[in-house]
Amino acid sequence: MSTYKKILLALDLSEESEQLKEKAKSIAEANQAELSLIHVIEPLSFAYGGDVPVDLSTIQDQLDAHAGQKLENYAKEINYPVAQQLVITGHTETEIHRVADENDVDLIIVGSHGRHGLSLLLGSTANGVLHGAHCDVLAVRVHEEQEA
Ligand code: AMP
Repeated sequence: MSTYKKILLALDLSEESEQLKEKAKSIAEANQAELSLIHVIEPLSFAYGGDVPVDLSTIQDQLDAHAGQKLENYAKEINYPVAQQLVITGHTETEIHRVADENDVDLIIVGSHGRHGLSLLLGSTANGVLHGAHCDVLAVRVHEEQEA
């Protein structure tokens, strides 16, 4: 019997994402689950507001394309069928929750590490994803440097 049918793996596409690969794959495999990948790009306008007198759309397009390519490479390397590769623009936690709800995801996998003050185990995004999710959330401990 499989516990999870639809898994959403949230990736910031940093080097730490590599550490989630094997674990996500083995959980998906053990459950014969559908695996989707999501990367959220926070719009440049979130950071700079309306105060920048230049058109940010070209840079934003380049960021989107670059993220799409990185996600594509990740999907190829995970060695498990990937149902959806989603690059979405918006607020990270909000978009992860929305996509999980809309796709009946029953497990969200995020990385977590202890470098963000308040919470020793969960990073800020992992914490945000956990609070407000309507399904299970697995926080996989990641390390800033791969251990030998
Ligand atoms: P952080 O708390 O920002 O260090 O991120 C912890 C985890 O949250 C990462 O390992 C990812 O699983 C997830 N995450 C962070 N940023 C993003 C993003 N932009 N898109 C998707 N997932 C993310």
